[in-house]
Amino acid sequence: MNKFQKYSDKELYLECKKWGTAALEARRRFAGLLPEVYRRDQLTRSIGKSWLRRKGYSGAFEFAARLAGMSRDQVSRILQLERKFEALPKLRNELVEGEVSVNKLARIASVATIENQEVLIEKAKILSQRAIEMHVRDIKRIEISRTKLESQKGLSKGEKTVHVHENNKAQQQKEEVKDNLKLLQILSPKVKKLLIKLSEQGHDINEILLKLLNQREEDIEENMQKIGEQVQKEQSSKELIGFPTNRYVPVEVKRIIEEKYGKTCSKEECNRPAEHLHHEKEFAKWKNHDPRILRPLCKAHHELRHTQNRRSFDFAPIKIATSSSGKRPSQKTLQLTMANATKNTHSKNCQIKWKRNVVPKNI
Ligand SMILES: [Zn+2]
Ligand SMILES: [Zn+2]
Repeated sequence: MNKFQKYSDKELYLECKKWGTAALEARRRFAGLLPEVYRRDQLTRSIGKSWLRRKGYSGAFEFAARLAGMSRDQVSRILQLERKFEALPKLRNELVEGEVSVNKLARIASVATIENQEVLIEKAKILSQRAIEMHVRDIKRIEISRTKLESQKGLSKGEKTVHVHENNKAQQQKEEVKDNLKLLQILSPKVKKLLIKLSEQGHDINEILLKLLNQREEDIEENMQKIGEQVQKEQSSKELIGFPTNRYVPVEVKRIIEEKYGKTCSKEECNRPAEHLHHEKEFAKWKNHDPRILRPLCKAHHELRHTQNRRSFDFAPIKIATSSSGKRPSQKTLQLTMANATKNTHSKNCQIKWKRNVVPKNI
């Protein structure tokens, strides 16, 4: 029996975590060295000698494969990124210092600018790969909408604008056709028949539907208000008798939230399933599940939400900025604290699984 067979599950997990973390860090550090290795080799090759060949390697690819088990694609990616980051010194520094993984840097490279590089680095250090992907997608979406708006308003003139405008118009038409088809598929034969009949009778279908939809919205808002007030009232009476706070979100609250937001993430244009209920007012402090301050979010947007406007959220920067010794913590400690704070916040204060205990049907 080897020593690992005697380990408890927890001990085995911690041992794996320890070495896994060390392996990832070593990989990042090695990746950061590659651009310099490649540069030196290229320099010596230009005068007929190869630095790497002298050491017994045919080139940077074999060097990285034999020393760190890196594939050709991974090495190419690192070298490409380093070239791309020539105009973005802060990002380049993160790559060569091995502070941020190549995968995360590759994601943010497509939206990075000299102005936003620092913010992106900060996010890359504390967010998961999935949240970074989502953040990049959001930035691109905002940029596309902005360009569309500008070309529609004709803010900038010239051939390029006309071209962009035409492209946008074609894209919009495509999207409209897609939406129309989607709508036809959603409507049941019975509803279609009724709508056609109403239209043939000369009724304004759009007006009828809008009225119904507005009424629906008003009903939801009214119910939300009622449930919210009820929740607040119950919470205050519990506080009066010193009753502990219940972390369980009442069924009626979950129901009304689903009625308002549906089953997907409440972030604009995100169609991922809503998996967490986020408290806009920190639960640990406000201790209530008023539906008016709850937002269903996908995992990635929930993670992102906790990195925005940090002051209004549960992980206070005050804790991060000072250490027990009173000294300013190192950059590394700062990153770790921030990452842990994000994790703790999620596990303790806000991460209420949407799927768990949810009564609404079809979830
Ligand atoms: Zn949250
Ligand atoms: Zn989302």
